[in-house]
Amino acid sequence: MRNYTEITERLKRLNVSIELIGTAHSYPIHQIRLASSADTPRHILITGGMHGDEPAGVEAVLQFLERNNSTLLKEFSFLVIPCINPYGYVHNTRETLGDIDINRAFETGDIAEVAIIKKALGQNQFSLAIDFHEDYDATGFYLYEGKRDEKYIGPDLATAAKTIGPMDPDDPGEDAPDLAEGVYKVATSWGTQGLTPYLLHFHSEHVIISETPTVWQLEQRAALHLTILDTALKIISEST
Ligand SMILES: [Zn+2]
Repeated sequence: MRNYTEITERLKRLNVSIELIGTAHSYPIHQIRLASSADTPRHILITGGMHGDEPAGVEAVLQFLERNNSTLLKEFSFLVIPCINPYGYVHNTRETLGDIDINRAFETGDIAEVAIIKKALGQNQFSLAIDFHEDYDATGFYLYEGKRDEKYIGPDLATAAKTIGPMDPDDPGEDAPDLAEGVYKVATSWGTQGLTPYLLHFHSEHVIISETPTVWQLEQRAALHLTILDTALKIISEST
């Protein structure tokens, strides 16, 4: 059993308002909105904890919230959901209660976490949505990218990520075409059952799934996620 209260306590210590967006299987799910002004043009979604046995995503989101983002907030606003699947986080299971993989359930109507996330997304449109994951079989990092204009930045993200650790040599399969070594395309064949393809279809012109190997230490996994995020924001910032 992992302690979810430690997560909510870390959130409460932040100097930002924590919004309860719903309760799933008696665990609260929170969002944090970061913005320096209402008209910040680029809106970014950051999510972790989709799979409960992948704590590095939650850790990366918390470290993002705990650091000083004042420079980024001049250009970006953020919607941050630190832990989508608190039941799985506590019980160290990929799935939520009832053996449901939330990341395959975004076309399913009666999953508590899906309903909570969809409600939180509302009418939001994002310049980038990034979802942090882990891979138990991998020996290095890799990532998936979806982009409506197909001007992919994944190869540059992978180059930056190599400063944190090696790339995974194996192709993850899953019907994802290669964009570059270690960079795979969020395929249209996935439909919209997963959060990221759902977001690409309805809410975000650009999506990234960052995958770290569980064999790395937690700090290294979190650093990998934040390097991917920061590099993506830097490229977006410089491109316009
Ligand atoms: Zn995952």
